[in-house]
Amino acid sequence: MSGSEQGEAARAEASLAMARLDRLAAFTDEPGRITRLAFSPALKAANAELLGWMRAAGMEARIDAAGNVVGRYEGERPDARAILLGSHLDTVRNGGRYDGALGVIAALAVVERLAARGTRLSHAVEIIAFADEEGTRYGGTILGSWAVAGRLPTDWRSRVDAEGVGAEAAVRAFGLDPDTVGTASRAGSPPAAYLELHIEQGPQLEAAETPLGVVTAIAGATRLLVTIDGAAGHAGTVPMALRRDALVAASECVLAVNRLARTSRCVGTVGHLRVAPDAVNVIPGRVQFSIDVRSAADADRAALLGEIRAAFETIAAAHRVALAWTVTSETAAVACAPHLIEAAAATLAEMGLPRQLLASGAGHDGIAMSTITPIAMLFLRCAGGISHDPAEAVDARDVEHGIEALARLTIRLAG
Ligand SMILES: [Zn+2]
Repeated sequence: MSGSEQGEAARAEASLAMARLDRLAAFTDEPGRITRLAFSPALKAANAELLGWMRAAGMEARIDAAGNVVGRYEGERPDARAILLGSHLDTVRNGGRYDGALGVIAALAVVERLAARGTRLSHAVEIIAFADEEGTRYGGTILGSWAVAGRLPTDWRSRVDAEGVGAEAAVRAFGLDPDTVGTASRAGSPPAAYLELHIEQGPQLEAAETPLGVVTAIAGATRLLVTIDGAAGHAGTVPMALRRDALVAASECVLAVNRLARTSRCVGTVGHLRVAPDAVNVIPGRVQFSIDVRSAADADRAALLGEIRAAFETIAAAHRVALAWTVTSETAAVACAPHLIEAAAATLAEMGLPRQLLASGAGHDGIAMSTITPIAMLFLRCAGGISHDPAEAVDARDVEHGIEALARLTIRLAG
């Protein structure tokens, strides 16, 4: 192929990918929105559509025991472990059309390119579309990549969604057998690597004016619930000097989280706050609020939490309020494999793109996959850094770069 023919083919791949992403967006549990919750009828229909595309591309494709779509494009060496490309097809409620689906559709484009050229790599190339990444329906991922990693949450069967549908019933309605979902595990014969292209879900690539970045790590996160107990009282009769106002103390705490996070290598957010008794003429007696702290380095996260805690103690003493601090969840950071980070960065360099490394502040299937195989992620610029929203948008030219990078990286590793 000449250079201009190659350019033409790459543009056609990207425009087909964009059309497929639009097509997938039409599979929804809620008309007028994009909602494909784990194990829902819309996800089942999207899975069926993808199965058809995979088979048309010459892949052997199936739904695994946990509801994930898996396609395989054979390699030349039967003994070589597959390179696994993937992402997820489930979405949050009223989500966007690129979070998850982009990585699956880009992977499909990579295999279609190989098939069209009659190219077989030494390693097989597999594509997986996880069925349960967002965790929207059952308070966290219950199957999906954790099933593939062979680490199901022990309580998954007893989880119930907002409509009262139990996880077992949902899995059964999806056409799966709850007793065999564990057989989706690849822990016994893991792939050689797991590669995922995903929208960035943040504004860094846009700010750097570059289409792609290489992920160094998926941030660890600590979530806490803080309760401050002061004294409720009449807003008219209690003099200012005698008050123990829980909301005033909590407000200083919120500002402290923001101030301390700004000088750390972490991000810190107070996103939930509840005031009691929550009345216009009553001094707040109790306030509960959340804290979410994330960092690619666990030590930095621990250090920031220590500083926040110390600042809170000082604030509580000054306002004569009681403070209770409860960690509600904690996950360690997951590093992408150094050799894959370098391979991805070399791929971008080969394409004439800058070496852009960044950490992922959001969780991804790579967390589970990292327990059985080395992982790498490429981030693709998205408009305004917006995600989990119908306004999610990517540029077709960036998608062209994304497919090209994923194809080159796959060939680099599987060739
Ligand atoms: Zn995602």
